[in-house]
Order: sequence, then structure tokens, then C-alpha cells
Amino acid sequence: MPATATTTDSIASRAGDGHRDPVPGVAASYTSLSLFRRWFAGGGVPALMYHKLGPRPKGVRLRGLYVDAALFRRQLGELAASGYSTVFPESWTDEDTADSRRIGLTFDDGFENVLRHGLGPLSVHGFQAIQYLVSGLLGKTNEWEQRQGEAVERLMDVSQVREWLGAGHRIGAHTRSHPWLTRIPLAEAREEIRSSKAMLEDAFGVPVLDFCYPYGDWNPAVRDVVMESGFRTACTTASGLNRPSGHRFQLRRLTARHTSLQWRTLGAWLRLLWAR
Ligand SMILES: [Zn+2]
Repeated sequence: MPATATTTDSIASRAGDGHRDPVPGVAASYTSLSLFRRWFAGGGVPALMYHKLGPRPKGVRLRGLYVDAALFRRQLGELAASGYSTVFPESWTDEDTADSRRIGLTFDDGFENVLRHGLGPLSVHGFQAIQYLVSGLLGKTNEWEQRQGEAVERLMDVSQVREWLGAGHRIGAHTRSHPWLTRIPLAEAREEIRSSKAMLEDAFGVPVLDFCYPYGDWNPAVRDVVMESGFRTACTTASGLNRPSGHRFQLRRLTARHTSLQWRTLGAWLRLLWAR
């Protein structure tokens, strides 16, 4: 399971932050509301983490990071049909009541295929989402992934980001070049974090108050830099729901991913859910 290992094996998930995953193992990836409905109804705000939408090009390594366009439409459709509305990260830790039917929709990295396959379905349901952009690579490609042999994908350019914003969506910062923030000197991490905010605010004339740790890689020192840099929230890749007691700079998400869901797998998940 290389995709999950790469994107969710963060310090955050290892260290924990006082949250509890009621359904260990299941919470890590999201395919359909039907498997999560009961858990979501217990309170807290879920947030879905997407990366790429649409067909996978040849030679893709992390296949799970692509969500098929039809599956994406189906996922949004069932949320809308069940009365869900979307909320931005600063609201995920608000005081909530059980079954509030609020959800966050997030996209990491700013891929062009999200604009192509996502904008229409999002607007059909009046859903608003956030894209976390790599500020130094706008209009370029996923260089940090290609270094690991991943297939080339285009990132949104300035005019495409304007189109995204114009449709009522939001942008957040995801550093300048997508490094592992705990593996570089703190001064360099600070520069990556601060310059991404400044570059995006300059380019688009909107406040950029939401941050997302590349690879979900953070530690308390990195988190404190984000907190001191004028952001209001930060997303990790730790799975689970967000609760009022949760830390706004350690927000949790569920990986939305394409899986070949087999009856055997489904049975195991259902048993886990009903065993609670
Ligand atoms: Zn990323």
C-alpha cells in the first residue's frame, strides 16, 4: 500500500494528538458515505482529502491518489442527497452538535485535473472546496513526485487558480516547493512556509490563512512556525474526525481514494462498523 504509506505515515499519525479514531483502520480511506454515515452522525466534522481527479496516465505509481471523475461525482452526489454542506477549515473544530452534516473538501497540490473534473460537480451541489497550492510551481508540474519516479501531472497556473477562486472556492498554502518540513533546517522550513503565503497573497490578492503540511510531515517546531506565520489553520494527513477539542493546526482528514472495493473488503468494513 505505497500510496497510504507515503501520504499518511506522518509524525502526526504516529504521535497522536488526543483524538481517537473510533473505527481504526477503516477511517484511513473514504470511498462512499454509506460506510461512514453512522460514524459521521456521532458528531465532529469530517474532511476529505483529494489529490488528483480523472483518468490515471500510464506509468502512475501512486494509483490511489487518483479518484475517477465518475466516482467523484457520485461521492458529492451522495453527500448532497444526505443533506451535507461544505465548511472551510476554520469551522471544523467549532462547537458542534451530533449529526451536523458538515464536511470539508480539500485538494492537495493544485493539480490541473481537479479544475477540469472537479469544478463542474462541485458547482452542481453548491459545494466549496480548498486547494492547497505549491506556490513556487504554479503552471509547472509535480516535480517533487517526479523525483520519486511518479508520472508527470500539470499544476494549475495563475489564470486557472483565478478561475478556481472565481467559482467560490478557496486556496491555501502548501509551501513553496513541497519539502518534508521536518527534514530541512527550521530556518528553511520557515522560509518555505512564509514565502508560500506571501507569494499566493501577492499573486491573487486574497488572504491565505490555511496551511497544509506536505506529506503530512510536521513536528511541534514546524507547527509553531506555521502558527506564528499568520495562518489560522493547518491540515495534517492524520485520519479521523475533527472535534471541538481538536488543535486547529493539526486538523485531520480522511483520504478519498479510488479503491477496487470487493465484497470481501466491504464485509470486513461493515463488521468493523457494526462492532462498535
Ligand atoms: Zn502535497
